[in-house]
Amino acid sequence: MDEILSDLVALGKGLSITFKNMLRPPVTVEYPEKKRVLPPRTRGRHVLHRYEDGRERCVGCLLCQGTCPASAIYIEARENDSARPVSAGERYAEIFRVDLLRCIYCGHCELACPTNAITLESNTALAGYTRQSLVMEKEDLLEPTGSATLGSTQAWDARPPSEMTRFDGSETSAAAVGKGNLVRRLPER
Ligand code: SF4
Ligand code: SF4
Repeated sequence: MDEILSDLVALGKGLSITFKNMLRPPVTVEYPEKKRVLPPRTRGRHVLHRYEDGRERCVGCLLCQGTCPASAIYIEARENDSARPVSAGERYAEIFRVDLLRCIYCGHCELACPTNAITLESNTALAGYTRQSLVMEKEDLLEPTGSATLGSTQAWDARPPSEMTRFDGSETSAAAVGKGNLVRRLPER
């Protein structure tokens, strides 16, 4: 009899938790119809930014590639044509490739970037049917012409560099960050 009584008490205790939580509002949302607002420092997919005049912030200095612990970034830089510069520096990134499957979203690339050209943003819906679909090219990463945002930069640095203090990349290279002997090999596509 005592055993039945203690089982009923235990059952009552368990069910009281169930009933208590049934009356609480749900803590989950119906994703993807509803999405939570993510914190400003969320590290999702990369975005490459521009200046207001349309030039790209990236000056192809390779610092992000050099610092990336996962070798997820591949860049080929070219000299700018002074008549029609692509970026605000001496060079620009002709190829800028990020392998989202290699990336560990550590944010080192955005911290290394002297021009705030690359940031990790709140797009965390990163899935694909093929490996290739998760290798982002510059065209996939660059914000559209007419946009000039700083993205999450302001969440990390209250005073992002302005164009006045811009860095042209002329004195910086992979060699400067000890990656001068980096194997220049295109990731398999
Ligand atoms: S560190 Fe910045 S400027 Fe340099 S290559 Fe990377 S994104 Fe471009
Ligand atoms: S977030 Fe980290 S792992 Fe990903 S590309 Fe940037 S430096 Fe590399």
